[in-house]
Amino acid sequence: MSYEAFDDDTLGFTTRQLHAGYDPSQHFLSKAVPIYQTAAFELGSYERCLRLFKYEEEGDSYVRFSNPTNRVLEKRLTSLEGGSAAVSLASGMAAISDTFLTLAHQGDNIVSVPTLYGGTTTLLQKTLPQYGIEGRFIEDETDIDSYRNYIDDRTKAIYIEALGNPGMNVLDVDRITALAHSYGIPVVIDNTFATPYLFRPFEHGVDIICYSATKYLSGHGVNIAGMVVESGKFNYLNGRFPEFETFYNDFKDWIDEETLKREMFTKRLRITYLTDLGAHMSPQTAFYVLQGMETLSLRMERHVSNAGKLAAFLEKHPAVTEVLYPGLESSPYHSLAEKYFPKGPGAIMSIRVKGGQEAALRTLKAVRIFDYMTNVGDAKSLIVHPASSTHFGHSPEENAKAGVYPDSLRLSVGIEDIDDLIRDMDQALNQSQQI
Ligand code: PLP
Repeated sequence: MSYEAFDDDTLGFTTRQLHAGYDPSQHFLSKAVPIYQTAAFELGSYERCLRLFKYEEEGDSYVRFSNPTNRVLEKRLTSLEGGSAAVSLASGMAAISDTFLTLAHQGDNIVSVPTLYGGTTTLLQKTLPQYGIEGRFIEDETDIDSYRNYIDDRTKAIYIEALGNPGMNVLDVDRITALAHSYGIPVVIDNTFATPYLFRPFEHGVDIICYSATKYLSGHGVNIAGMVVESGKFNYLNGRFPEFETFYNDFKDWIDEETLKREMFTKRLRITYLTDLGAHMSPQTAFYVLQGMETLSLRMERHVSNAGKLAAFLEKHPAVTEVLYPGLESSPYHSLAEKYFPKGPGAIMSIRVKGGQEAALRTLKAVRIFDYMTNVGDAKSLIVHPASSTHFGHSPEENAKAGVYPDSLRLSVGIEDIDDLIRDMDQALNQSQQI
């Protein structure tokens, strides 16, 4: 018996989500990916120790940098994305902050759209500036030519989300990557809401993908986790990234040149930031994420089907003044969603409830199946009031730009029976109108 499915990228997505990156013959034929629950590994010999520390040999020394369980997850996601390498981190925010730190240094800036997860907005607006890295927010993210006004010779990335949180806006990614590359700048995308099953960032020129793997990649809602994947196509030696040139010169004698260039971003992130700041995913968590990813495509199909039906129902509900979901023909993003999301634009939507914030809060109180939680991307349906939670602390103007109003609720539509979800939202919205 051979186990070639572990590195056959011609296999379909669903086959790869079960097999890619794992060769049982290297792990005592264990069918499940083993959890390597250890803090460190024996080095074997002085010569091997040196090879490991020069990154000449694939292997593990200390689990702050790497672990075989995590490596299976990293290879599996790399295969699903069609990229060159990945790193697993302790949370989505660790993935995003380590990505920014790897790209930008004191005096540099990151140009970003304003329609982001609140935590990322805070990171760019408040935390990174304390270390000399400026987050620049584009005023109108739909006017792609205007992005040029924010770019200068210290710009190190354009940062976007595949589906804006929580307004679910869709960007013209092809145009953004073309513009960024004309300046020699990489594009980073947060693909958390879409997953590699619904959106294929590397096929649209994106260079780096970040995930909160806490969400759909896991789907079971039992862990916090993050991932970063690189395309292997961006040239970091184009003159804009002096720190990458130093890194390249430090490692070029030990790592095969082609591999070093294809995996330059993730190698630098791992060797510098994972090592120095220490936010590696635990092997136990890597195992949980792998368990979830085995059913990713099947879950996403059901999520999208439920979301489409629920959005159509809510759009006609008398207690709902607006539904933000790009799958609806009424959405200004519908044609972009059809282009970029042929399998459907995810399963998160925002609604605005008639009667203002009080009515929105009454809806939250009345739901029976939807759980009132700040999380998204769970197999179970979740609901939250963004203005008092995920987007709390931002000004009303900033929130309005992200599609958050006092009467907004964000729904993360799960995989339950759709009739139950429709009935639940119907009764909760009806109760919200009774004062
Ligand atoms: N990106 C998006 C789109 C998110 O919704 C979140 C969290 O909700 C994050 C990143 C941060 O992920 P984590 O909570 O795993 O750190």
